[in-house]
Amino acid sequence: MKKNFDLIIVGAGPAGSAAALTAAERGVSVLLLEEHSQIGTPLACAEGLSRSTLKEFLDIRPEWVARELSGSIIRNPKGTEFTIEYPGVGWVLDRKRFDPGLAEIAVEKGAVLKKSVKAIGIQDNEVVVQENGSKNTYSFKYVIGADGVASKVGVWVGIDTRLSLSEIEVCAEYRLSNIVVNPEYAYLIFGSKYAPGGYAWIFPKSKTSANVGLGLSPLKTKDNAKSFLDRWLEEEFPGARIDEKIFGGVSAKILKRFSGRNFSLIGDAGRFTDPLSGAGIANGIKSGVIAGRNVARILRGQKSHLEGEMKAEILDEIKWHLRVRNVYLKLTDDDFLEVFRIAEKVFAGQTITDINTHHLVKQILLSCPHLLKLGFRLLF
Ligand SMILES: Cc1cc2nc3c(=O)[nH]c(=O)nc-3n(C[C@H](O)[C@H](O)[C@H](O)COP(=O)(O)OP(=O)(O)OC[C@H]3O[C@@H](n4cnc5c(N)ncnc54)[C@H](O)[C@@H]3O)c2cc1C
Repeated sequence: MKKNFDLIIVGAGPAGSAAALTAAERGVSVLLLEEHSQIGTPLACAEGLSRSTLKEFLDIRPEWVARELSGSIIRNPKGTEFTIEYPGVGWVLDRKRFDPGLAEIAVEKGAVLKKSVKAIGIQDNEVVVQENGSKNTYSFKYVIGADGVASKVGVWVGIDTRLSLSEIEVCAEYRLSNIVVNPEYAYLIFGSKYAPGGYAWIFPKSKTSANVGLGLSPLKTKDNAKSFLDRWLEEEFPGARIDEKIFGGVSAKILKRFSGRNFSLIGDAGRFTDPLSGAGIANGIKSGVIAGRNVARILRGQKSHLEGEMKAEILDEIKWHLRVRNVYLKLTDDDFLEVFRIAEKVFAGQTITDINTHHLVKQILLSCPHLLKLGFRLLF
């Protein structure tokens, strides 16, 4: 049995598998470790993926998609809605097919995938694993931590990945069936009654099923996310069947350091989640692809562009969104009503092909004089 690999990747989520397939197709010997027996299970995700954030980093196959979306329906704290028509905006994935599908491509490219193998430590250039009830080791030249939001690899390589209360959104989500939803649109719902410091969502998987959840800032409420969700669902979907309950967190943080001489952290482990939307699938894939191609360069003795590419493709936007989030966390429901009024003017009745957050934020600030002062202080 092979014990030595160029690259060991801990975690076969979208980030780990994207890194594995990218490195393997460049001739790198890759070991991809996944602690669970089934990839994509259990899963903490609403499965929404926007085409514009993913860019050309991966072609989404039809068999991975539950719904193709045509836009969003935005609801304000008073329950009023408007629709953003944005054909081809993205997908609600079926991650129980998508995650294993991506890992399968990595295997086709030559990566060795080991399921039910849990990494439990790193010693020198070896990953220590728990495998078939006993300890084992595999050696690497380079190791990638793609082990999700609760990453241990970060700790093992000496990176402080801890999240304070201001750097996390706490989420609760149920997979519901026996409901009626418009399957063409993702619903985004704002207001302190539903999700203080965050938002609530309905991501349809069919006409009668959806991922319904919310993320909130623990700075804005002492109540827990589950209580908010239960109260809302009683009002929104009485009689729904709850097929699965999901609880988790998403980060709103940039690490001081996500890589070193022979390691890097990617996806949620590297805190690459978008701090405004909480979306991490696209940035997970992007960070995986970037890490995969740079590890291949490093192992060939070529110059690495890892830091620069991560900055240009992911971190500059996260930095901007962290600033916008600082303003967002200060908004009252009355401010939301004002922002909603302006956004409705910008979007309603139009067919959109792109959303530029810089442009939108500027328009909102210029139209709301009392937000302008706060906005300038926190944004610039
Ligand atoms: C409620 C909720 C809803 C969300 N909705 C969305 C959404 O709609 N759209 C979106 O883009 N993002 C969403 N996210 C975020 C998204 O789920 C993550 O950003 C994404 O899954 C990150 O991918 P990843 O590969 O970095 O990590 P993960 O998908 O978490 O994968 C990590 C993998 O590593 C494995 N692993 C962990 N530790 C070990 C170990 N020691 N040894 C071996 N294997 C290990 C895990 O089993 C897992 O398979 C949501 C998050 C939450 C909590």
